[in-house]
Amino acid sequence: MPISQLARSIAESPTLSLNEQARILREKGEAVIHLGAGEPKNKAPINAILSSAAKLNTGDIKYTPTDGIPSLKKAIIRYTEENYDRIVAPENVMVSGGAKQALFNLLFTLINPQDEVIVIAPYWVSYPEMIKMVYGVPVIVTPEDGSFYPRMKEIEQAVSSYTKAIIVNSPNNPSGVMYPESFIAEIVEFCEKRGIYLIMDDIYHKLVFDGKTHVPAYRFTKKDTESTKVITINGISKLYGMTGFRIGWVIASKELVLIMTNVQAQTTSCTSLILQAAAEGALTGIQSVVDSLRLTLENNRNVMMQELKAFNGIKVTKPDGTYYCLPDFRAYNQNSVELSKFLLKKALVVTVPGKEFGMEGHLRLSYATTVKDVKQGIERIKWALDPTSPNEIYIGERKFVRDWL
Ligand code: PMP
Repeated sequence: MPISQLARSIAESPTLSLNEQARILREKGEAVIHLGAGEPKNKAPINAILSSAAKLNTGDIKYTPTDGIPSLKKAIIRYTEENYDRIVAPENVMVSGGAKQALFNLLFTLINPQDEVIVIAPYWVSYPEMIKMVYGVPVIVTPEDGSFYPRMKEIEQAVSSYTKAIIVNSPNNPSGVMYPESFIAEIVEFCEKRGIYLIMDDIYHKLVFDGKTHVPAYRFTKKDTESTKVITINGISKLYGMTGFRIGWVIASKELVLIMTNVQAQTTSCTSLILQAAAEGALTGIQSVVDSLRLTLENNRNVMMQELKAFNGIKVTKPDGTYYCLPDFRAYNQNSVELSKFLLKKALVVTVPGKEFGMEGHLRLSYATTVKDVKQGIERIKWALDPTSPNEIYIGERKFVRDWL
């Protein structure tokens, strides 16, 4: 077998493969509704476009410093001060090709073979795979009470002498819930005391609804950036709907950033100057684009909750933020992979199986789409699953008749 054992053990990204399946179906002219997407429909902010276009126009596009151009780092430092109330130095910031690469570099830098990293279910699909890629061991903590909120006691029970880090993603992909301030305070205190790195994946931190605000982990530590165990990951993908620009960053101690810079230098050299310019434009430009994205998402979330309420067997926790919710579909099917395939085949709706996020029996539904798609998507799912719904439906131009319930 020419493929390495490690590479063979890595699962394909279910979300990216679903995007591909949906694209193929759409190309065939099928009226697919995509409730699987991890990106909104908005156009990139004008300041991002102008800034990158200006750079491109110079024609002088060369390698940049591995850890990012100084002006982008300056914008990230200001962002950190404004949103995290923390003043960091340029040597605490490392720019990568999306939060994804930032996280991978960080794990590569921290983890020795067999080190354990605690991941809270439901979790973003890439965490366990990335941990495995650096020969670490993902240790999954699933809230015992069936909620999406972990208890500190459960996390403490999972900690061993091999625990090197804990990853926290709040607001959370896929559940949309934001962990309570008291939990963040407890976990920061625990990690500082035990010397365990606390990786805060804050990629959705400004996309929070109902007037709530995200509380940064830094608030609960007195330690400075060089000695705290808190590390923050962030990026422009979700904040500005700039997923294709591939810029993310990490805020960590100078010591860690230095090593991460070596790792990045030997792998990708740096991210593209044009994309860094776009990120700088977005961060220094008009910020009302974030508010308008948040308001659109909040409205879509409300519509989705309304539509799901009309669904008898489904239990759903109202999301506090993000693009997603994670309803419990076990009343219809315990097997989320099977259910997701069924819904794509019969109702042409893309959903992501909860199994991929460590929550079998659930489906992740994204409302980062149009209100029309949210409404029609849920209507189609209801038609496919709920015998009390009318057994005929129009999908695109065609009338579909349900003959399986
Ligand atoms: N963390 C979480 C929780 C995410 O949902 C995503 C994107 N789906 C990322 C990180 C990666 O974001 P980026 O596009 O910046 O790589």
